[in-house]
Amino acid sequence: MYQTVYGGKYAAPAPINLKPEVLIIGGGVVGITIARELAREGMQVVIAENGESLGGGIRHLHFFYDRHTDVQQWLDDMIADVESTGNIIVHKGAQLKRLDGHLGCFQALIRTRDGGETVLSPSVLVLATGCITRPSAAMNGGDRVIGLSEMEKLLAGSRDVSLAWKGQPVKTVTYLLDRTNDDIKIDTVNAVKQSLILQEKGCRVAVVAGDLKVSASGMERLYRRAREKGVLFFKYDEPPVLSPTDDRVSVELQDMTILRKEERDTVSLLSDLVVTGETFTADPTAEELCRVIKLRPGTSGMLMDDNPQFQRVLSNRRGIFLAGACRFPQIVTESLSEAHAVVQEVKALLHPGAYTPANPVAEVDPRKCAVCYTCVRLCPHAAIGMEKHGERNVYAAPAVENDGTLWGAARIEPVACFGCGICAAECPARAITLYQ
Ligand code: SF4
Ligand code: SF4
Repeated sequence: MYQTVYGGKYAAPAPINLKPEVLIIGGGVVGITIARELAREGMQVVIAENGESLGGGIRHLHFFYDRHTDVQQWLDDMIADVESTGNIIVHKGAQLKRLDGHLGCFQALIRTRDGGETVLSPSVLVLATGCITRPSAAMNGGDRVIGLSEMEKLLAGSRDVSLAWKGQPVKTVTYLLDRTNDDIKIDTVNAVKQSLILQEKGCRVAVVAGDLKVSASGMERLYRRAREKGVLFFKYDEPPVLSPTDDRVSVELQDMTILRKEERDTVSLLSDLVVTGETFTADPTAEELCRVIKLRPGTSGMLMDDNPQFQRVLSNRRGIFLAGACRFPQIVTESLSEAHAVVQEVKALLHPGAYTPANPVAEVDPRKCAVCYTCVRLCPHAAIGMEKHGERNVYAAPAVENDGTLWGAARIEPVACFGCGICAAECPARAITLYQ
């Protein structure tokens, strides 16, 4: 690679080959999809999964909303494929503890729960740690109020028999959405999908939501089908009131779909089961990952992409990609689209001759650097480190002989620098030059 010397001239860079080695943090459906596709391209892939098995959050899902595939069988087939592919190595119970370097030559320290350590040198990293799904806080309604995942399990366990809850037949079900997640569509997708399965089982189903979100691919069609099949939809402004009766739960609300206020009556839905939306939180390892990798954390502790509108799978660091529910809770179809996008990005970097390094756009004069670490702390892309340098800086006492002692100075890694200019603007010693 070309050398960065302060004030030097740079030849036009030539394409170089980066090692086709990829480290994927997270062995959920996104991680294993990316691993399989990159392995098919001949790349060496390592998956570091925090849990004791692959699969991740999709383990609680049994039905897709947009295809008739058994989710668990589909997942098991993919895992079997990953575990039998020669160029994919899986570390279970493993966490990334340290990351140095940059695109093309990261050094990653992976530690397993039994204390074993592995040092890897991947060219790129992919973060696919997913998120945690929990039932919403308990609502008044007793044990007849369950979460969407619980209902998913119930439906999977009663594919060929009538639905029952604690030995009692279930004939009426009400979905109560948007009590906790105002802008997440997973709940709508799962509720409409489940309501169609319930209708086919002969149950009467109502979906009560603040705002039904049908923006996922094919959801509008699914919603229309649910309405045609007899699923009732209600909209509320004020949270519905739940009250348990002897063997059922009553859900009372003002239906906002009736436009004239004076014509709105209180709707009372008497149900055998009430199914509520769920809460999604960042993976517990996300905070530590942000610290180790020097990533910007997003809202609610999720990992944040560099530009949510245009560069959803890019992070603030070159060569580190994000995909799936570690960014925000999303449906499987969306996560898989992101997995495919990451595969394309990685291929564009790691295929032989595909990568051309850029010329430096910002450079430190080591003679002027006061080693104050301001630029190291401020660089939003973690492109600056401290290095030993042969020339002493202007702050050394004049009496000190240059006896070969190495002096510290900041150094900007051209591969990692985005040329934003923050370091040049903030350096108190005016030691950084930003090229046009
Ligand atoms: S801000 Fe300037 S003086 Fe401080 S470490 Fe960076 S280059 Fe050196
Ligand atoms: S120009 Fe921006 S990205 Fe490049 S080293 Fe300076 S602060 Fe970092």
